[in-house]
Amino acid sequence: LPGIASGETIIAVAMTEPGAGSDLAGIRTSAVRDGDDWIINGSKTFISSGINCDLCVVVARTDPEAGHKGYSLFVVERDMEGFTRGRKLDKMGLHSQDTSELNFENVRVPNANLLGKEGRGFYHLMTNLPSERLSIAISAIAGARAVFDETLQYAKDRKAFGQPIGSFQHNRFLLAEMETELEVTENYLDRCLQGVVDDELTAVEAAKAKWWATEVAKKVVDQCVQLHGGYGYMMEYRVARAYVDGRIQTIFGGTTEIMKEIIGRDLGV
Ligand SMILES: Cc1cc2nc3c(=O)[nH]c(=O)nc-3n(C[C@H](O)[C@H](O)[C@H](O)COP(=O)(O)OP(=O)(O)OC[C@H]3O[C@@H](n4cnc5c(N)ncnc54)[C@H](O)[C@@H]3O)c2cc1C
Repeated sequence: LPGIASGETIIAVAMTEPGAGSDLAGIRTSAVRDGDDWIINGSKTFISSGINCDLCVVVARTDPEAGHKGYSLFVVERDMEGFTRGRKLDKMGLHSQDTSELNFENVRVPNANLLGKEGRGFYHLMTNLPSERLSIAISAIAGARAVFDETLQYAKDRKAFGQPIGSFQHNRFLLAEMETELEVTENYLDRCLQGVVDDELTAVEAAKAKWWATEVAKKVVDQCVQLHGGYGYMMEYRVARAYVDGRIQTIFGGTTEIMKEIIGRDLGV
């Protein structure tokens, strides 16, 4: 933990597999007990920092008969035999961070590397996913706010038909709508953040924050590209980079659709 906090130890969390993303019950990576050790076999994909990680928290099935109580978490270390990296995946954005495939072939992991309790892997994930989802929501809105502020300035400076483009009523209303959507969302996120501080943030609140904030961010950044005209399509402009970097936010950490499933189930429908 000290290494992770100082940034010297890079960590990855490996849940997703080629055949199991939203539906984690499809995880096939297995961990089988062998004396004081566990033997892990399987493969993962789309793992953030998969290439660079020193430690990888791997979700593996420890009891195929036990349903959602049949999964456990293991900390696999960089040099463990049988732990290899697959392809570094070629993404449309987020180029400063690697996302990769991981393979586990008879990786022997001591029982001391079992993280949390055996059979409680899903429970441990569910406990921590709300704060991860909130952090995705916050970075999405913070990023969109920065892009909006730049775009507002651009709309005041850039002239067409003899006047600043922001002064056309359509654009003025668009800017007003975005300012409203950002501020309303920021306030809800602040409330959720207080929930984290008070240890009261629920999975449903985090799901609302995640889908809403990332969809607002996606819409705002898209509209900011439009307001930049052709310059918005040029990678030398921050708005263009934000457009490709931000697109993943409604997908990773649980898609918008899965967030709505969580909220809908809570509504009893
Ligand atoms: C850049 C990047 C980084 C990532 N980092 C990590 C990481 O560090 N660790 C990790 O474990 N994973 C990571 N992921 C994986 C990510 O969490 C999954 O891609 C995501 O959860 C979706 O899973 P999937 O790709 O299998 O899509 P699928 O589950 O196949 O979904 C495809 C589509 O179907 C929809 N869908 C699925 N089920 C339902 C349903 N019940 N109702 C309605 N619609 C549904 C989805 O919303 C989506 O639109 C990363 C992915 C990317 C692209």
